[in-house]
Amino acid sequence: MNLLHLIIKKEKKSLIQKRHPWIYSGAIKHIPKELKQGDVCALACEQGNILAYGAVNPKASIVFRVLSFEANFDPSHLIEKRIIKAVKERRDLISKDTTNAYRLINAEADGLPGLIVDIYSDVAAIQISTAFIDKNKQELIDAIVKHAKIKAIYEKSTAKSRSLEGLESFAGWLYGNEQKDISIYENGLTYQVDVISGQKTGFFLDQRQMRFLVRTLSMGQSVLNCFSYTGGFSLNAIIGGARSVTSVDSSESASEKTKLHEQINNLTGKTDHKIICADAFKFLKETNETFDLIILDPPPFVKKSQDITKGFKHYLELNRLGMNALKPSGMLLTFSCSPFFSEEDFLKMISMAAALESRSLRVISNHLHGYDHPVLINHPEGKYLKGYVLKEQNYDR
Ligand code: SAH
Repeated sequence: MNLLHLIIKKEKKSLIQKRHPWIYSGAIKHIPKELKQGDVCALACEQGNILAYGAVNPKASIVFRVLSFEANFDPSHLIEKRIIKAVKERRDLISKDTTNAYRLINAEADGLPGLIVDIYSDVAAIQISTAFIDKNKQELIDAIVKHAKIKAIYEKSTAKSRSLEGLESFAGWLYGNEQKDISIYENGLTYQVDVISGQKTGFFLDQRQMRFLVRTLSMGQSVLNCFSYTGGFSLNAIIGGARSVTSVDSSESASEKTKLHEQINNLTGKTDHKIICADAFKFLKETNETFDLIILDPPPFVKKSQDITKGFKHYLELNRLGMNALKPSGMLLTFSCSPFFSEEDFLKMISMAAALESRSLRVISNHLHGYDHPVLINHPEGKYLKGYVLKEQNYDR
């Protein structure tokens, strides 16, 4: 296959040899002018040896995104081939007994930079953030319909980052009829997902394993679920035998959905469950109650690298408030879904909060996203979700 060559500067060659999938414009020596936004090309060194194949966007600061490091790379039907592989892999990883909602494509880690495909029963919700995928949208639609066996596709490409690729915001149905309140199941619970007005693509699929963990930890406990969205953690706590559950979220529609989910799963009245629509910081500052198990799963406070200092303070305040409301020997599940907040910073923040609140917390376990959200080992930016399960063992209190 004869592809045009993008030439990387001699001193930047090591970047691609470290297998990071992004090359920024400053590392490029020459872009052939025939190469247009979203084209497939080769990345070569100044001597002409090919180092990788990928998609180019001369307008973006990430000029080149790797599609393959393999010499026998063949760009024909690329999207379809990658969808076929992902469908098979997810079938092996996620049992149908567990759920019918999962992430089929997690961008770079599934060989399709800038593409998210989430499957909710027989509906796909997709997000596109690169010119390469946008340009090949029809191939993508055909491949999803054919291989993922769905009846409708909704695109929700509204991320601000699209403008960096020269793309406009877009949301709408690409295939099939509009689907409202898609019914999904996860570990025996039913949820209704609204792909249009729900957050992200409709549901936080990445926390599936953590929701189940909460079920196993809740027996006899008083549970506080801050940032509860549509009640996933709370319903698992109820099923797990919690003594009481308090769900706090600032979104009115999410809080209403929590109530609905409790009803449709026949869990109403099973546990003392308070659903509180409020700012979680305010709630934690004002409550006099303490809890055995607290979940803190806030929205991302560090969306870009410039936000680290501000975001750190935000996480610190939240975790201090959470620890303050934790009973002695209580358990704290704390998360960050900020792509630009490293695991190191997250742990540093937790240690600082514990010291400031005079709590002797121990790490019981730490967590990443679920199995269906793979991350390339050499692409730390893809590793957005981090979580710790912490428990105090204060022998002398
Ligand atoms: N744990 C959830 C996902 C949480 S997403 C699950 O597993 O489904 C983050 C949630 O935080 C959203 O529902 C959003 O409405 C809520 N949120 C954002 N800012 C908030 C605030 N200041 N106080 C309370 N909730 C907030």
